[in-house]
Amino acid sequence: MTTTTAEEIDLADNGPAARDVLKTGRKDMTSHTSILGLDRDQLKNILREELKVPEKQLRMRISQIWRWTYAFGALNFEDMSDLSKDMRNELARRFSTARPEIVTEQISEDGTRKWLLRLPSIDGEPAPEIETVYIPEADRGTLCISSQVGCTLNCTFCHTGTQKLVRNLTPGEIVGQIMLARDRLGDWPGADAEITSGLPSSERKITNIVLMGMGEPLYNFDNVKTAMSLACDGDGLSYSKRRVTLSTSGVVPEIARWGEEAGTMLAISLHAVNDKLRDILVPINKKYPIKELLDACRDYPGLSNAKRITFEYVMLKGVNDSAHDAKALVRLLAGIPAKINLIPFNPWPGTPLECSDWETIEKFAEIVNKAGYASPVRTPRGRDIMAACGQLKSMSERERASTRRERQKQTEAAENTENTENKVD
Ligand code: SAH
Ligand code: SF4
Repeated sequence: MTTTTAEEIDLADNGPAARDVLKTGRKDMTSHTSILGLDRDQLKNILREELKVPEKQLRMRISQIWRWTYAFGALNFEDMSDLSKDMRNELARRFSTARPEIVTEQISEDGTRKWLLRLPSIDGEPAPEIETVYIPEADRGTLCISSQVGCTLNCTFCHTGTQKLVRNLTPGEIVGQIMLARDRLGDWPGADAEITSGLPSSERKITNIVLMGMGEPLYNFDNVKTAMSLACDGDGLSYSKRRVTLSTSGVVPEIARWGEEAGTMLAISLHAVNDKLRDILVPINKKYPIKELLDACRDYPGLSNAKRITFEYVMLKGVNDSAHDAKALVRLLAGIPAKINLIPFNPWPGTPLECSDWETIEKFAEIVNKAGYASPVRTPRGRDIMAACGQLKSMSERERASTRRERQKQTEAAENTENTENKVD
């Protein structure tokens, strides 16, 4: 395992984009509005109202800016060579393409990478931190991104669930995780590439995006939707909706809406086959029990054998891992185009839960296999750097308003003292 702080990262590794993002990220994020995450209408309004771009040029300008930003990963407006010099200067004066700031980058012995990222502070709160994970495999590279700092839900087996919600991520912070990972992995086409819409998917390092990091994405619906529309737009990051998966603990009313408005692949954190146990493991079940959840799954638009819902099932020793549970799981999902993903429980400091024995997992998997679900066990990745499913947690906490007022008072007092001292000097 290697751990590197932002200062130590070998900037030469990853080309000019990575060098620039590390050099400029901190300054730009706080002093300029990031252009990342703006949808077409927002960008159009800015170009029209603030930069006075003539109406008939708007479409073309948006395409140009998007292509540079999302297809080529440009970090400077200066490089956007088909925009006029004035326009580039004006954009640079007001905006940035900065990504979240890297605090550390860890590389597991199995090649998994985890980034701890610092986001700008909002409303005087301390700057919160999130985690993003890259999992390389023989035939794909998956990026696991976060949608919230912490989580409002508290599933008993999940490390993130022990951290209270600090705040929702903005669309730019969500899409920024993908862009930052591509910077670090050198996953942008070179400046000389004769490509108009990014790397062809066969040459990409990140081929799949999963919303399985910190947070419940359906509780940050609008921002996640905007970010994923940028990820899936042909002029944007250009990922196929088939390669983007949203994982939810089961926010039933939002599932149908997500299907209609975003239409990505869906994963459901099921983890139990009866309400009594699921009420404990995934407490949102008390609000939206299994039957309602599965009805919403049956109605998810566009399901077919080629487009199946993934049901995630964490293997907890002596809790949900019996042969009886396996058979009940298969019965429960009958009639839904489904994949089953058995996740060996990933432990974290302080949890009383344990992962099922390998033998038990194999027996469970065999029952699931016999029912026609292929290779259902997910290999844990990046456990040595705490990057596996459910291990993500940052130290960020939401300050109480009284603590924040106290801290502001102290800062003001310190500033006043400094001013007085300056005057005396
Ligand atoms: N909030 C969303 C997405 C984030 S969690 C959700 O709950 O679906 C991503 C997946 O990791 C979920 O299936 C979650 O149940 C699972 N998970 C959480 N903690 C885990 C742990 N300690 N070991 C294995 N999987 C875990
Ligand atoms: Fe939140 Fe998902 Fe963890 Fe549950 S499993 S606490 S919903 S992040």
